[in-house]
Amino acid sequence: MDKIINSCPFCGSKKVILDNYRDIENKKRFFVSCLSCNATTGFYSNGDSAIKFWNQAVKNKIITNWIHSIIFRIRIILKRWLEIKDGE
Ligand SMILES: [Zn+2]
Repeated sequence: MDKIINSCPFCGSKKVILDNYRDIENKKRFFVSCLSCNATTGFYSNGDSAIKFWNQAVKNKIITNWIHSIIFRIRIILKRWLEIKDGE
């Protein structure tokens, strides 16, 4: 298992974490995220896949998924908005 997370390919920060959240279908989704510049991977059903993708991106200097990062934020905002709306 590939548990070591490389530093961020964008900003070089070592403040990189494996995080997860529950999506709208209540499924756990894992992603690696840089706390310094907010770069993220896409979402994976397990942590190892997210770490593997992140580390490959670092190795290959591939520009990773800024779009995923934006979608993620939209979904979080949408989810909060729905929660607020349901709470009325
Ligand atoms: Zn970064």
